[in-house]
Amino acid sequence: MARYIFITGGVVSSLGKGLASAALGALLQARGYTVRLRKLDPYLNVDPGTMSPFEHGEVFVTDDGAETDLDLGHYERFTGVAARQTDSISSGRVYTTVLEKERRGDYLGKTIQVIPHVTNEIKDFIKIGDDEVDFMLCEIGGTVGDIEGLPFFESIRQFSQDKPRGQCIFMHLTLLPYLKASGELKTKPTQHSVKELRSIGIAPDILVCRSEHIIPEKERAKLALFCNVRPDSVIPAYDLETIYDAPLAYHKVGMDRAVLAAFGITDAPAPDLSTWQDVSDRMHNPDGEVKIAIVGKYTQLEDAYKSIGEALTHGGMFNRVKVKTEWIDAEVFENGDAAPRLEGYDAILVPGGFGERGTEGKIKAAEFARTRKIPYLGICLGMQMAVIEAARNLAGMQDAGSEEFDHEAGEKRFTPVVYHLKEWVEGNRTVARTVTDDKGGTMRLGAYNATLTEGSKVAAVYGDTAISERHRHRYEVDIKYREQLEKCGLIFSGMSPDGKLPEIVEAKDHPWYIGVQFHPELKSKPFEPHPLFRDFVKAAVEQSRLV
Ligand code: GLN
Repeated sequence: MARYIFITGGVVSSLGKGLASAALGALLQARGYTVRLRKLDPYLNVDPGTMSPFEHGEVFVTDDGAETDLDLGHYERFTGVAARQTDSISSGRVYTTVLEKERRGDYLGKTIQVIPHVTNEIKDFIKIGDDEVDFMLCEIGGTVGDIEGLPFFESIRQFSQDKPRGQCIFMHLTLLPYLKASGELKTKPTQHSVKELRSIGIAPDILVCRSEHIIPEKERAKLALFCNVRPDSVIPAYDLETIYDAPLAYHKVGMDRAVLAAFGITDAPAPDLSTWQDVSDRMHNPDGEVKIAIVGKYTQLEDAYKSIGEALTHGGMFNRVKVKTEWIDAEVFENGDAAPRLEGYDAILVPGGFGERGTEGKIKAAEFARTRKIPYLGICLGMQMAVIEAARNLAGMQDAGSEEFDHEAGEKRFTPVVYHLKEWVEGNRTVARTVTDDKGGTMRLGAYNATLTEGSKVAAVYGDTAISERHRHRYEVDIKYREQLEKCGLIFSGMSPDGKLPEIVEAKDHPWYIGVQFHPELKSKPFEPHPLFRDFVKAAVEQSRLV
């Protein structure tokens, strides 16, 4: 039976609860324990699939096809444990399930209430797979005191009572603001936040305090006294130069020791931190730099492409270079020459995206990279852009485009080299969709296999011809243009195992020009960079040496 660590937050949001959870997971692993991380989100969306990346950041897709919060990306990048559908839940999902059961009559005429019906549903979720790992880390989204969060806090309180004593601990993250005028770190907001938590029956075992300044011993003692935690369980969390320092930094201030002590574990193996020492060393001691342009739509909020930024960093770590990324809004060169804006980069990446806005600019970026022989990585929509570019400029199909844009505009303007996929095979069943289906969860989602052409560039990148990658899209490159495009030099070097869906294209006679229909960034880790990002950055390094 797993031991449970519940991670909550107080005072303000965006304190890095996800990162602290992920780093703690990594530290427990370093001591030889198995872990799983889970996110409980109080918002009412059923999942983040329909939320704007501007507002909520990237949607992270799991192998089993769940559209989840970007914190699950942190969890995977730090622990290497592949997240599952059952590692992410929201109030929306909980209430949907409860209401479906009510309609089916499962509650046998009872009045449906938050306690126990909603809380039971949450507890059942928390329990899933609890016989598989040593530690289950459950992060509660939001901040203590939020109206939506209450059922979740109540559920974890009950859960800890349902379990034998010592099976669950609570870790609370807060902020110690610094008052410049008096030169003091203030503990009062933390005291209030813990008071709030205790008023709903949760007494934190560990307090993690974010602070921009060193927390003096006196303040730690005060926090311990007023918040009713042990002095060595007040863990300072200082700002870090890079998130990949988090496991080492949290270890240094005693987080894993405090957690084990809270469980009464005295015989834990010493941690092997060599992986994180290597990761940190590579982050801090690069040997050179490359500049990569990311031409996309959601460029104001870097979180919208969180995993891409991280995967590029991992590629840089492997090649021992610092990757400087610049996010360029594709719309800026829509009506002019892209060259002046794109010159000077060692590589160009066009990420995934939805809708027509900005696509003409992305097509120009693909053209620039192809004709100037600059390394190019097109991801999902970025691959579709590369195909449309080749169809227009190499195969002479001036009106080549994607059905997605016609659907959006409500009129037919393009020859669809990218079309809406209405039926595909998922495992042993066929999935069917229409254009007007719900927007949530109706895409080709999750892991699908692909077969790579022997001798192709991508087969060399992967060192294999059978791969599995995560997908999240509705539209597909039309196989019927394969011959025509291959004759012009755009090779379809990766296909779905049934040979019907193009998964990868690459340009012949180009040092590195690859488009993939899937999202390789989701599987990259600092200690195991994704091969496409590893080699894309390597190509950028080679490009940087040419100029
Ligand atoms: N909008 C495109 C599609 O649905 C690409 C999606 C993406 O880039 N994730 O196929």
